[in-house]
Amino acid sequence: MLKHHLITPGPTPVDPDVLLAMARPMIHHRGAAFKEIFQGVRDGLRWLFQTQSDVLTLSCTGTGAFEAAIINFTRREDTLVAIGGGKFGERWGEIAQAYGMNVIAMNVEWGQHATPEALAKVLEANPDVSMVTLCASETSTGVYHPVKELLEVVREKTNALIAVDAITALGVHELPMDEWGIDIVVAGSQKAFSLPPGLGFVAVSERAWERADEADHPRYYLDLRKEKKAQSKNQTAFTAAVSLVIGLEVVLGKMRAEGLENMIARHAMLAKATREGVVALGLETFASRPANSVTTVQVPGLDPSVLVSKMKADGVFMAGGQDHLKDSTFRIGHLGFYDESDILTALCALERALQSVGHDFIPGSGVSAAQKVFLENP
Ligand SMILES: *Cc1c(COP(=O)(O)O)cnc(C)c1O
Repeated sequence: MLKHHLITPGPTPVDPDVLLAMARPMIHHRGAAFKEIFQGVRDGLRWLFQTQSDVLTLSCTGTGAFEAAIINFTRREDTLVAIGGGKFGERWGEIAQAYGMNVIAMNVEWGQHATPEALAKVLEANPDVSMVTLCASETSTGVYHPVKELLEVVREKTNALIAVDAITALGVHELPMDEWGIDIVVAGSQKAFSLPPGLGFVAVSERAWERADEADHPRYYLDLRKEKKAQSKNQTAFTAAVSLVIGLEVVLGKMRAEGLENMIARHAMLAKATREGVVALGLETFASRPANSVTTVQVPGLDPSVLVSKMKADGVFMAGGQDHLKDSTFRIGHLGFYDESDILTALCALERALQSVGHDFIPGSGVSAAQKVFLENP
């Protein structure tokens, strides 16, 4: 018997209650039932993003939502500073480049976090920047950037809009949009929301909306002005991804029942247990400032793809390293619908894989280190 465990930083497992809700017969997206569901969803999203602004739901993945954030609030001749440090941080600069913008890519070594001092230098050299993009929890490296401190530097040095990729940070780390003065927050359904892939979210501040009409990039499907107008009436501009929205209503209800603080604390505990587990097995964590969403594990002297394949054969699916980290790391996801037993399962499979390649460790030591963290947290 092989049980399937998805332990990746997206897509993440979906709660059976959510799966059942999404299996309900189709309803029409212009009917009253959909409007009522969507109104509840819009309230729930504002709660989760901690904002008074509208949070728009789009039928696309996180990348589409981020593209919308860039093209609706900047001009072609504008300068955009993209804070790097990983695949996703760098991607936002690539999108702006594709639209012909002037992009300043702030280099951050993968595995390290961006520092306020380094950002201040970049912004002092480019004070006329119109948007700064930042990936809060960098899923490719497992780093959580010091978001609040970086935002303060942007505010102090420029008048730029701040767009934050919170795709693996929302509900996982503290990220109060209004309190921290973030202009644009982007999320996606298949990460912390624990929904199937297919929905992107963009929360937009008033300050950002003021720039929407000046923006001169070509846009049609991703014209957020159309969505703002439609969604304020509990409609979507085009056909809504009805089943995903129905699932989202259930997810948001469960998130509210757990509470934001508890949800963040749960992720912090799962992340800590994972890190202590892998370190107890003689492996290393990669991130300078580890995220609560994913743990990137360094395996000196071992081939991570062999470990990942062995675990997969045992029914436990983890993610390999990204790009140049492929030969030295793998990633354990712990965001969304995860609990203690998932982490113990992951470490159990990891121990079996390590044993199969002759790695020297005390059997049970990884599982035991994680369990210690759980028992210390009531
Ligand atoms: C997954 C992810 C994305 C991209 O999402 P897609 O759904 O593949 O478009 C962007 N940023 C971060 C931090 C992610 O984890």
